[in-house]
Parts: sequence; C-alpha cells; structure tokens
Amino acid sequence: MRHSKAMNPTSIDHRIVLGDGNVRWVHEEAELKRDEEGYPLKMLGVVLDITNLKEAEEKAEQQRIFLQNTIDGITDPVRVIDREYNVLLMNSAAKAAAFKQADDKQCLKCYQAGHGLERPCDELEDPLYDHPCPMKTVFFTGKPMVITETLADSSGKMRTYELSFSPLRTLGGELQGVIETSRDITDRLGMEQSLLEKESHLEQLTYLDQLTQLPNRLLFMDRLRLGISATHRENHPLAVVYIDIDRFKQINESFGHEIGDQLLLDVAKRLRGTLREDDTLARFSGDEFVVITGYLKQPEHSAVLAQKLLRSFDQPFEVAQHQLYLTASVGISIYPQDGTDADDLLRDANTAMFQAKGEGINSFQFYEDDMTAQAFEHVLMETSLRGALDEGQLRLYYQPQISLENGKIIGAEALLRWEHPDMGLVSPAKFIPLAEETGLILPIGEWVMRTACRQLKAWQDAGIELGCLAINLSAKQFRALNLVETVTGILQETDCPAQGVEFEITESQIMENSQRSIQMLDKLRDLGVGVSIDDFGTGYSSMGQLKSLPITKLKIDRVFVRDVAENADDQAIAEAIVAMAKALGLVVIAEGVETESQKQCLQQMGCQQVQGFLYLRPVPAEEFARYVEEAGLA
Ligand code: C2E
Ligand code: MG
Ligand code: MG
Repeated sequence: MRHSKAMNPTSIDHRIVLGDGNVRWVHEEAELKRDEEGYPLKMLGVVLDITNLKEAEEKAEQQRIFLQNTIDGITDPVRVIDREYNVLLMNSAAKAAAFKQADDKQCLKCYQAGHGLERPCDELEDPLYDHPCPMKTVFFTGKPMVITETLADSSGKMRTYELSFSPLRTLGGELQGVIETSRDITDRLGMEQSLLEKESHLEQLTYLDQLTQLPNRLLFMDRLRLGISATHRENHPLAVVYIDIDRFKQINESFGHEIGDQLLLDVAKRLRGTLREDDTLARFSGDEFVVITGYLKQPEHSAVLAQKLLRSFDQPFEVAQHQLYLTASVGISIYPQDGTDADDLLRDANTAMFQAKGEGINSFQFYEDDMTAQAFEHVLMETSLRGALDEGQLRLYYQPQISLENGKIIGAEALLRWEHPDMGLVSPAKFIPLAEETGLILPIGEWVMRTACRQLKAWQDAGIELGCLAINLSAKQFRALNLVETVTGILQETDCPAQGVEFEITESQIMENSQRSIQMLDKLRDLGVGVSIDDFGTGYSSMGQLKSLPITKLKIDRVFVRDVAENADDQAIAEAIVAMAKALGLVVIAEGVETESQKQCLQQMGCQQVQGFLYLRPVPAEEFARYVEEAGLA
C-alpha cells in the first residue's frame, strides 16, 4: 500500500489490489475514538472507491502537460492573456523572454512579463508605447490584429517585434482573452534592408556612369524619351546639347588616365554647375557629355545654354599641380524640328557637334544651319554685345565723301563694325537697334566718338587734312542729357578740333521732339561741330521746320539715289532736296552713289557732294589713308 497523500493523517488515498487482480483507488477516512484517558478505543471510518475521479484527474494533468509541451514546441513566444491582463499561459520562449517570472502566489500581468512595467503600457505617456493597447482593440473588435514594435529586450538591446493577437473565446463564444504571439523580425528587417541596398547598388551600376555618377547613356535615353513625351504634351521645344571636349585624347595620353579622370570629374562639376535643376546632364563614353534641356521657351534659347557651357571652360582646370586649358565643341538638335524620336535627336546633336569641331574648336552649332545665325540674332547678340566693347571687338570703318565740284575728298563718314569671333563682321543695321534698346548705345557711341576723333587727329598729325569726319548719332545719344559734356570732354581729351567733326542725325530723330532738338542742336553748334541730317527725304520735314534748325548739311537718302538716273519721281525728290538745301544755305550730299550715271545726274542737279561705293566702300583706317594718299586731297 502506498500513501498518496499525507495531508490528513486520518484520511488517505491509496490503491488496493482486488482478488481478481484489478487495481482500484480508494479514499479512506477514519476517526480514532479515545477513552477519557486518551487511550484509543476504536476507529470509525469510510472507504470510498475513487478510481474514476483519480483517472479523470490524471487525464486532465496529461492534457495540461500536452498543451504546455505543444506551445513550448513553438519557437516564438506565445502567451494567453485574460481581460485583466493576467498571463494565463506562456510557452518556454515567452518565459525566457519575460522580464519577470511568475511565482506560485500570483499570476503575472502581461505588461510585467512583456515590458517589465508595473502598469498597463497604454497608461504611460511613453512614445515607445504610443499605439492603442492591442488587447483592448481585440476585445473591442473581436478580430485578430498585428502590430510591430521596436523595444529594448530584457538584455537592453533594441529589437523589432511583430506581435499578433487573436481572440480567445469560451465554448459559448464569449471573449475571454487573447492569444499573443510575437516574432523578433529584427534580423529579417536587416536582411531586407541589405537586399534593398544591394538592389540600388545594382541599379547604380546599370544607370550611372561610375566615374562621375551622372546618368549614363541608358538612363539618358530613358529620360530623353520621357522628355519628348512631356514636351509633346506641354507644347514647348526641347534641345539635346552634345558636348565633346576638344583634344581630350591628347591629355589622357600625355598626363595619364588618372589625371584624365580627375579632369573629367572637374568638367562634370562645372557643367552641372552651369545647368538648371530641370536639365539632365549625362556622361557618355570618355569625354562626351550630353544635356537634355528642361523647360525651353524658344529653341534659340538653347544657344544661351551652349554658350554658358562653353564659357565654363574659360578658366583653366587645376589637376595635380597642372593648369590645363580645355575647350569644347557643342552640337544642338531641337525637338520637334530636327527629329521626333530620341535616337534621331541624339544623332543630330552629335552631327552638329562634329560640324562645330569642323568650324573651329570652342564653338557651338545647331543641327539646322540657319538656327545658329538666328540664335545669334535673337538671343546671343545681346550677351555678346555687352562683351564687344570690353573685348575690343568694335571697329570703325571710313568711307570718303567727295566734292562734285573738283572730285576731291572733302571728308569721311565713320561707320561702326563689330568683328565677332564666331559670327564675323556684323552689320550695324543688325546690332545698333539692339544697342539702342538695351542702352548699350551710350557707351558704344562714346567709344565711336572717341575713336573717330582720335583718328581724325592722328590723320591731321600725319598731314592728312580731312575737311570733316562725320559721326553718326543715335536717337538715344541725341536725347542724352550729357551729350554736350561728353562731346566737349572727348574733343579735349583727343585734342581734336570741333570744326573737323560733323554729327549725322536722322531726320526723324530731329523732328520727334523739335523743341528739345533745337536746343540740343544750338548747343552743338555753339561747340563748333557741324550737324547734318542723315537719310533726308524720308521724314517729311517741311522747309519751315528746317529753317529754324541750326544745321549745316542735308544728306539725301540712299533710296532716292538708287534710281535717280531712271526714275522721274526719285529725280524730282532729289532735285527738290537740292533746291531746298540751296535755299536754306545748306550743303547737300548724296549717299549710296554706286554708278557714274547716278553721280552725273546728281551733279547736274547741283548736288555738291557724294559718298558711295563708286569711290570706295567703308574701309579700315589704314586702307582709308592709303586711298586718300593715292587719290589726293583737296
Ligand atoms: P547711314 O549713316 O545712312 O550710313 C550709310 C550706310 O550706307 C552705311 O551702311 C554704308 O556702308 C552704306 N553705303 C555707303 N555707300 C553705299 C553704296 O554705294 N551702296 C550701298 N548699297 N550702301 C552704301 P552701314 O555701314 O551698314 O551702316 C548702316 C547704318 O548703321 C548707318 O546708316 C547708320 O545709321 C548706322 N551706323 C553706322 N555706324 C554707326 C555709329 O557709329 N553710330 C550709330 N549710332 N549708328 C551707326
Ligand atoms: Mg550716316
Ligand atoms: Mg544714311
């Protein structure tokens, strides 16, 4: 017989073996009866067969062990929690991760075990727990939920967990708690992150140029296609600008690839620095860079960009104690006029770049030839004109004026020319209006005056006595308040006699504001300089108006001279001008005389002087001096 319980010395559960060999559990309870002295008299008791009860108890214990073993077999922590936050069940993983272990006396609360807290976490104002209590949410919705939480583990390390909560119901369907499983996803997240990094590195290798980290050809073509469709939608032009560094191969060969690479990095940086945010700069192989313009108002504006890109090479590059001067050639193609697909546009820009190289290094060229000139006239002229003065690109040409009485040279007209490094000789008809518009005519006009006066003085000193030198004055110059001071200053500075100078002012300029004009003309006369009315005959001025003007000469406009020998109307006008001049006591000169018959015709009318290609085209000073020497002066 085995005592299974010794709690009550008067009760005992034990097994008995029956006669047939069956084993039964019995519960015996006995009470000892004693006499007055305390000696045992008898025992009173019952014997109960508790075999069934014992078996049921054992079964329940086995089920509990089975359940515990089952959840212990789950490697992620699992906890069963009731509505009062009591942890009813934990597997060994949950126990191992718990901040606190349960004792026999009291049930652990989920926040004690899970977070080492003494209050439910949603009652704390801690940003770590700034989510609603998932337990409460599950109790409210009755549905499972998942959250992630980054928390310090029991060793203090920050880890990220994915927690899932499922409702636990009684047989009757009533919610009695939640089953919480948590999974440490820190390592998985780390792996995902490193996978992402690897992917982006791979992408970099595929789409970026490894040296400069600029987009490579593949990405460029992609962007160009996108750019084309955006441009198409928004209806503005797009330009592809192809930049090739001149003679880069030589640099690579003479200095080595390392310096070559360093240089390319510097070039990339400078180019990028000249561009706008919405322009794309890519590097193709070697020394080729290509730009896709962002928003462009007009196709010609891409020339401003090309010029800026070229300018970015003006300063030398400093690499490994070397100062290297680079130049580049730039080709531009325009969408949609040069091509509607990306390949065509790129090919055209490349062709244009080779054309630019052919034209001479450090220049740009549009694929469409005319565009280069148009761009110059429409957008580049202004920027270049500002530099024209400073960079000494302006010249004065001289054209002789001849007396029809004796055929001798009695003067010259100074005519402005712009020797542009890319565009060649630019006509004043093209840039004077722009200079007027921008106000640049004032410093330019001053330069003309100074140069002409200096030249006149130099000729005089050299024994070439010109009657007078005509200088054209623009409207803005004529209206400038300080014109008289400027002229006085320049005459003094150049030591040029005022009588030698004659200003040409167009008829329309004088008539525009005649009262002020008269005052200005009076002042000029007081200075001693002559004034002639240029392009006369086009401004409809009357004899009465002219009478009041302090002028010295009338210059018959070229349009009346051109057909003067054949056209009766022109002849009549020319004759009227000559007659008017005579009546007013003014000298009259005809400009644009190209033929002998024109000259004779004018001569017969009594025109005193002529100027034109028949004698000499406008020429530089030295050539003019030679002409004078050969022709002889009056
Ligand atoms: P303009 O003052 O009427 O000058 C005469 C123009 O006729 C010059 O043109 C001259 O080259 C041209 N010419 C002379 N002889 C002949 C000829 O026989 N046949 C033809 N077809 N043309 C002839 P250019 O030099 O191109 O100057 C054009 C205009 O630019 C000038 O007209 C003048 O208004 C302006 N300009 C020139 N230089 C200056 C300057 O220094 N200052 C200002 N404000 N304007 C200037
Ligand atoms: Mg003139
Ligand atoms: Mg004229």
